[in-house]
Amino acid sequence: MKLNYAIVLAGGNGKRMGLDMPKQYAEVNGYPLLYYSLKAFQDCGFIDGIILVTRNEDTDYCRVEIAERYGFTKVKHIVAGGAERYASVYSGLKALNGDGYVFVHDGARPCINPGILQKLYDDVRCHDASVAAVLSKDTVKVSDSEGFVADTPDRGRVWIVQTPQVFDASELKAAYDSMMRDADRTAVTDDASVMERYGERKVHLCEASYTNIKVTTKEDLLTVANFLQKNSTN
Ligand code: C5P
Repeated sequence: MKLNYAIVLAGGNGKRMGLDMPKQYAEVNGYPLLYYSLKAFQDCGFIDGIILVTRNEDTDYCRVEIAERYGFTKVKHIVAGGAERYASVYSGLKALNGDGYVFVHDGARPCINPGILQKLYDDVRCHDASVAAVLSKDTVKVSDSEGFVADTPDRGRVWIVQTPQVFDASELKAAYDSMMRDADRTAVTDDASVMERYGERKVHLCEASYTNIKVTTKEDLLTVANFLQKNSTN
């Protein structure tokens, strides 16, 4: 039987938040932000294990104060990440022994829910590479190098990409291995772009939710607190 894993990323410094701790540990409605993503995967029937990627200095803290404290028994490995997001994903992939699907998820996106996870799981079983996304509500402009509008893409086809991003584990590993042999990794800001550039598989966009935001600023903490409160009372 193939095993599906989640790689939950919490290896960033969250400098843009201006807090005295990384944003993944900021308290939201009584729990650290990171708790919510781990809880969603812990409670998900088709996820067999979780790899948590943290800063090097936080591995013990995460084991004791998060994984053990909240009973996240599916957390099989806690590994140190790297300086960039892609390096943290690569650390997670090296610890992965699941041969099914891998759900790569930002620990700073706490509002994932069973509905989004099920939709992605259904989608990835059809397409083998599926990423959570929403259609852009705003008109998007592409600029030239002088800051003038160069293009206005059709809004019906412009998507804002989120996580989880889900792939066949061995295909994603192969794509990451190829990328790590490449000297220029500047365009790599998500896992889909690794698959697009270095993999064989076309990536399908799976409509998720506008509530699945990534916490970047302090205001985002208030927004997710509100969304999470609504989730828990529904
Ligand atoms: O910095 P940003 O908010 O885009 O990070 C997205 C996710 O990737 C966060 O959950 C963050 O903790 C994680 N990350 C990481 N390692 C890095 C940078 C970011 O695990 N070096």
